[in-house]
Amino acid sequence: MKFRFYFSLIIAKLAYTFLKITKLSSGTAIIGLLTLKICPKFLTYINNFILKSQINVTGTNGKTTTSGLISHLIRQENLSLINNSLGANMLNGIVNALAIQINPLKKYDYSVIETDEAFLKQIYGKMNGNFLLVTNLFEDQTDRFANPLITKNLIQDGINLNPNVQLILNADEPISSGLKSSKEPIFFGVENVLDENENLIENTFSKIKCPICNEELNYEKQFYSQVGHFSCKCRYSRNNPKYKANIILNKTSSIIDLENEKYEVPLIGLFNAYNALGAIVLAKELGLNNIKENLRSFKVAFGRSEKRALYGHDTLIQLIKNPAGTNEVLKTVDLDSNILIAANNNTADGTDISWINQTEFERLAGVSQEIVTSGLCAEAVAERLKKAGINNIKIIPEINKAVNYIGQNANNNITILTTYTALLKIDKIKEMKKCF
Ligand SMILES: [Zn+2]
Repeated sequence: MKFRFYFSLIIAKLAYTFLKITKLSSGTAIIGLLTLKICPKFLTYINNFILKSQINVTGTNGKTTTSGLISHLIRQENLSLINNSLGANMLNGIVNALAIQINPLKKYDYSVIETDEAFLKQIYGKMNGNFLLVTNLFEDQTDRFANPLITKNLIQDGINLNPNVQLILNADEPISSGLKSSKEPIFFGVENVLDENENLIENTFSKIKCPICNEELNYEKQFYSQVGHFSCKCRYSRNNPKYKANIILNKTSSIIDLENEKYEVPLIGLFNAYNALGAIVLAKELGLNNIKENLRSFKVAFGRSEKRALYGHDTLIQLIKNPAGTNEVLKTVDLDSNILIAANNNTADGTDISWINQTEFERLAGVSQEIVTSGLCAEAVAERLKKAGINNIKIIPEINKAVNYIGQNANNNITILTTYTALLKIDKIKEMKKCF
């Protein structure tokens, strides 16, 4: 019944206003839950509001940055969209974001929905979905499904409910690139990764098993974790991408050299360059204009390579949550900066902190300053750093105190590496000033 849909919209908006005024709760899950109680077919009705394309982004790492880039490129062209830009990407969070944003008298060109891997099935059971971009699939302790092959099956189950969706896949990542819909996937991939002097960046060689036959994969080039030009005896191998890019990693930005255009994005690290490449490819497929110009004005989401000021010091905040992503972040850390590592193991972070043992903290061995560890896992991180040969460590479990300590004692830029719930705390510290 349409009545239920409009009624649920009114209630959601009222509840949102009420929660905002009373500051009772940020409300994401509660409002979504309430909306679905009133109108269980809420997401089915959303289909009527989208004129051009429904876009979903899923994968282990890079969902928020990639969907943020796509939303930005759409908005800069004066096209309208609805999205869940704050990163609440499970069913109730998505419903909440849409219920608050939708104006029942308007239609929108696009929807851009960052979707948790396990929830794609619930979304595609109701929404049409025209494009699905999958960033990558890695081991992720913060996930309820640590094994990426299981996660792949969950995503495939979602796709099977919406079999005509156009997949946009990372050809270099062996697990997610095996996903299938009724349409030929559009693959993107990287040919070479160069540093700012255009020297080839050395590949890392870790042993990876084939997702099909479980034998060890062969790599012609391996860029990070299992990402690279792979092949297997069983004939499973990298697909030849439609979009082939060279990537140049600078100190403050990345350049994606694609089809004789050089796209510069204000994001550092190879993992972010892959996110940008995926977003550019999708934008091209959507037929968006001025991609190159619009990318330059992109502002990152909080904690995704965001810059802030703390007691006058430039402060770079990087989210860490699993070995593959953290290893890439560690490659970008300025070793002369003052470093704070804030790690919690609440449910949203993943309660098992053992992932820090698979993470290459040895990359910080050359630091010139004391490293501060903080959060519920301050001790465990300090132990790990000691194993990596770092001895100049200060443990300040309380995050607020640790942030103020590093701000007051810093003699250079500051780097903060933080897990998700620690990040939420850091965001609320009043000394963390936004940069405009
Ligand atoms: Zn194989």
